Amino acid sequence: MARDGLVPIIIAEQDTRQVEVVMALRDVVVVGGENAEVLRKRAIKVTTFDDKLATLLDDMAETMLEAPGVGLAAPQVNVSQRIIVVRLPDDEYSLEEYGDQAGVLYEVVNPQISRPSNEMVDGVEACLSIPGYFGMVSRHESAVIKGQDRYGNRLRIKATDWLARVFQHEIDHLNGVLFIDHATEIWREEAQHGDPVTAGEPGRL
Ligand SMILES: [Zn+2]
Repeated sequence: MARDGLVPIIIAEQDTRQVEVVMALRDVVVVGGENAEVLRKRAIKVTTFDDKLATLLDDMAETMLEAPGVGLAAPQVNVSQRIIVVRLPDDEYSLEEYGDQAGVLYEVVNPQISRPSNEMVDGVEACLSIPGYFGMVSRHESAVIKGQDRYGNRLRIKATDWLARVFQHEIDHLNGVLFIDHATEIWREEAQHGDPVTAGEPGRL
């Protein structure tokens, strides 16, 4: 499992031989910053499901949680491949609001939106790659997300409401699209636009 010269650190050698898994935070690419052009590229399909992919997924999850964010696409860590991770929070409010979707880590390789609802809903979005900005974006109220897991097995997720929004936002990233491209309104964090950081804005994507 060692990579890039990093060696797993043995932290206890008695009975259990516990080994600390080496994971790493990755730098998040921001608009106007280093490597920003990756955010505008169409990411390529993943065809190899190996340890390198597993490590990338682990690092992406860790980076997303640390940010903190509720979703992250590989181009946001400067990897132009079709890979996303999503996790809604699992605090008391989120458990009530999102039920069994709260706290679940979704890893989707080569994700595709299938059966998007005709019904569209407006909602407030933010993005780890565009710090300090919010936007009002119209999204499909629900959709089925199809793709593959880290081993290449096919998976299918029924997403509604906020979860569906996060998936649509992340899949946009794989096509070089940012929420500011289709926001009907954009404002800065400081602007205190109708109190967007309460119930309507549970996380960054
Ligand atoms: Zn984003």
